[in-house]
Amino acid sequence: MKAVFITGHGGNEVVEIGERPMPERGPGQVLVRLKAATLNRVDLYMRDSGAGITHRLPQIMGLDGAGIVEEVDPSETRIKPGQRVVVHPGIACGRCEFCERGEGVLCTSMQYLGEHRDGTLAEYVSLPAQNVFPMPEMLSFAEAAALGVNHITAWRMLFTKAQIKPWETVLVFGIGGGVSLAALQLAKLAGCRVIVTSRNDAKLQRAMEMGSDHVINGATQDVAKEVMALTGGRGVDVVIENVGQAVWSSALKSLVRGGRIVTCGATSGDQPSADLRRIFIRQLQIFGSTLGDLDEFRNLLTLVRRTGLRPVISSSYPMDKVHAALDELERGEQFGKIAISINES
Ligand SMILES: [Zn+2]
Repeated sequence: MKAVFITGHGGNEVVEIGERPMPERGPGQVLVRLKAATLNRVDLYMRDSGAGITHRLPQIMGLDGAGIVEEVDPSETRIKPGQRVVVHPGIACGRCEFCERGEGVLCTSMQYLGEHRDGTLAEYVSLPAQNVFPMPEMLSFAEAAALGVNHITAWRMLFTKAQIKPWETVLVFGIGGGVSLAALQLAKLAGCRVIVTSRNDAKLQRAMEMGSDHVINGATQDVAKEVMALTGGRGVDVVIENVGQAVWSSALKSLVRGGRIVTCGATSGDQPSADLRRIFIRQLQIFGSTLGDLDEFRNLLTLVRRTGLRPVISSSYPMDKVHAALDELERGEQFGKIAISINES
């Protein structure tokens, strides 16, 4: 089958487009003929170094994906051949302490597609049936694929970790990236007032069009000062953040007393000043979050069906043009997801 895979670590020269063996469907697994995937920052990380993530080369890239079911166990009742499905990319062991207490997302031997095992930039992927969900009917394959990493990540940050309330104000850093846009969409659906930041006025304009209540240009404005002006000197209840070091200080300064900050990434660096005095005197709460579990994904899909929420697709490339797609992701100028179309003919 045709696939996009890494043969080493470095730049696009280690990203090959070619033939890989068809995955063998094991018992309890579903074989999915993929139609689309979207790129995530971690795809660049796996290409560049993959350090700290156990994997074997060559490895097929891609975490999220949507497609059509090709083959299931004869005993499978929930998922049927021919059905349009979206995948959850985290495969938990089901047996460790955390899996046993129902927190598969904390599994000690969690395997992510495209990180620890072959991923979704391929014509086929085989994965446990519990990781395969019927996709919301009104979405394109690319839009559905985008839910599998970004929206579920934002979901867990907002609803499970920060436990946002409709009367609260949420500050989302770095609008334009997939998780940030998902957080804007979900926080607005939850009834929150949302403030977003970006260093790019065009992205801020688009965020306004998507329902953001206020926007702040982080390149030309002091974010914490603007937040205080917008909140009557109070600060926001919740900060959603994946930029890291570059914004951490202004993120903490933007929070109300007792406020919550949730981080799921550190693209600008992971060693900011802790500002411990501010944290304990103002009794701030800091949450780390990664992806979300199967139950959160099921709830997200229900909300998408009920509300018609659509992930934002910035651009789409065929598999043959994956190098250009990775270049676009690396430039960071996109607004929304960069999709890869698969099995087009
Ligand atoms: Zn486990």
